[in-house]
Amino acid sequence: MRFAELAEAYTKVEATPKRLEMRSLLAELLGRVSGEELGELLYLSQGLLAPEYEGIELGMADSLARRAVAIATHVPEREVALDVKASGDLGTTAEALLRRPRLPEEGPGPTVSEVYRTLRRIAEASGEGSQELKVNLLVGLLGRVAPVEARYLVRFVLGRLRLGVREMTILDALAARFSDGSKEARARIEAAFNVSSDLARVAEVLSASGVAGLDEIRLTVGRPVRPMLAERSPDLADVLERMEGRAALEYKYDGLRVQAHVPANGPARLFSRRLEDLSGQFPELVEALPRALARRPAIVEGECVSVDPDTDEIRPFQEVSRRRGRKYDLARMQEEVPVSLFLFDLLLDADGPLLDRALPERRTRLEALVRPDPQVRLATQRLVGDVASAQAFFDESIAAGCEGVMAKSLSNESLYRAGARGDWWIKYKREYTTGLADSIDGAVVGAFLGRGRRAGTYGALLMAVYDPGQDRFESFCKVGSGFDDAGLKALPERLRSYEVDHVPPEVSTGLVPDRWMRPGLVLEVRGAELSLSPIHRAAFGRIRPGAGLALRFPRFTGRYREDKGATEATTSKELEEMFATQVKRPTRARETAENP
Ligand code: ATP
Repeated sequence: MRFAELAEAYTKVEATPKRLEMRSLLAELLGRVSGEELGELLYLSQGLLAPEYEGIELGMADSLARRAVAIATHVPEREVALDVKASGDLGTTAEALLRRPRLPEEGPGPTVSEVYRTLRRIAEASGEGSQELKVNLLVGLLGRVAPVEARYLVRFVLGRLRLGVREMTILDALAARFSDGSKEARARIEAAFNVSSDLARVAEVLSASGVAGLDEIRLTVGRPVRPMLAERSPDLADVLERMEGRAALEYKYDGLRVQAHVPANGPARLFSRRLEDLSGQFPELVEALPRALARRPAIVEGECVSVDPDTDEIRPFQEVSRRRGRKYDLARMQEEVPVSLFLFDLLLDADGPLLDRALPERRTRLEALVRPDPQVRLATQRLVGDVASAQAFFDESIAAGCEGVMAKSLSNESLYRAGARGDWWIKYKREYTTGLADSIDGAVVGAFLGRGRRAGTYGALLMAVYDPGQDRFESFCKVGSGFDDAGLKALPERLRSYEVDHVPPEVSTGLVPDRWMRPGLVLEVRGAELSLSPIHRAAFGRIRPGAGLALRFPRFTGRYREDKGATEATTSKELEEMFATQVKRPTRARETAENP
């Protein structure tokens, strides 16, 4: 397929606010390519060159891309820069400049595969002379494409393609193209994705051997699975009831989730909740894991927290977060912020994958496998069958510096459900017991310009929760407090790559911010309570006609949830549940009485 065809499809995808239409456009595209090109097309459309977990970043510096556009269009770089100031997007500028009269391109334009391979070369170029090579490769491509293709190529190399094509939409398109359209087939396709975390691989298997072929996609060391998630409950009695009276309770450590892949030989690889590679950030864990496991290969999961080496006390989340994203000064950071990994699950051992085994078996095998040391330990667990013991365990957990407990089902159904949230795991946190609602992870969908002391930056952000059923981001508050000065100043830059000049089709709100943002950045916010509002759209009409849920007195907690993508924001269903339990909670009456 020529890249021109793909670019044409992109213009349509970009223009449609409807997920169904996007799905048909994608399904139609998928029907036109086969084999390797299928995977390449899927990566490109998500702004990627490989599955996300490979961490291959294209992100060419603006200055390099600008130089390439200047050379390819024969326009002085200064003029290109001026045009970008007006258009706000080098892609649009490249497109406009290429529309000027010029020599026609020679021969047919590049194919999708050619574009993909060149982009990979750009990404992989490193070392001396690599900047020139990157520029030349991009100039070469720009010289062969039509203006509209240039728009997308340039956005791609800058890491700002953002067509709004999300995984769920691609899964729908794959089901439409390669299955009988049944619910069951859609579920099998999603399950294959949850285990492989690689849409291109799922697509290739589907095109070669249909839904039946998906069985060959199995858990493999080195390829992360999408993590299993937990429901929440405001009450331990409710937790036990939902678990049929008996559960395994574990300390809920407040740190970074780590999925560790330890091969039979060679170094371990660590993945975050979002499946980014964390290995470089925690070399001591990479080193400790093979030693701490009696047999390999293995895939284990745990929470990484900072522990005081003298007292063995767990330090607060803020400590371990200092290690995230760190690539330099590692030795000093290891000294200042020593970490331990508390393992709570075993996904694969030397006998094979264990995803379809119940939790008790996984835990027994985990205990047999781990030789605890200061860096790698087992998460504290206790089996409980009554509320009093559950409460006692919760209190111990808080005293140990944890944020609550994670209750886990012991039933035959307690398999490791990759990518799924359900009653097999239920979280119960300390914050629920103090009368505050749980924090909410909101996606930024817009920003309001600041005034006075905040002139030049943003005064508030428009926040949204996610509705996976509709693939829609629904606003629930405007948050302006809780930011420190440095954080505020950095906001425009931090949000720049998400900015768009129109309301993104997936966003639903009754407000009009000064800047719209494609959902991408996730922030943790907390507030006084949830109320009904005619302007916010979270769970709109589901509690009362004409009203959505809004968070009153919202405040940024200071936690950027970089470990979450926009679709992992709190869901509108979760907000609805928080609203329901908040109304019922007796502590609220007491609070109001005490603080009239
Ligand atoms: P979610 O992952 O449910 O979207 P979240 O990322 O905001 O929510 P929490 O609400 O704090 O996280 O709860 C889930 C997280 O708790 C897990 O992803 C994991 O990182 C962490 N965790 C800590 N201790 C445990 C444990 N013993 N078992 C499972 N998860 C644990």
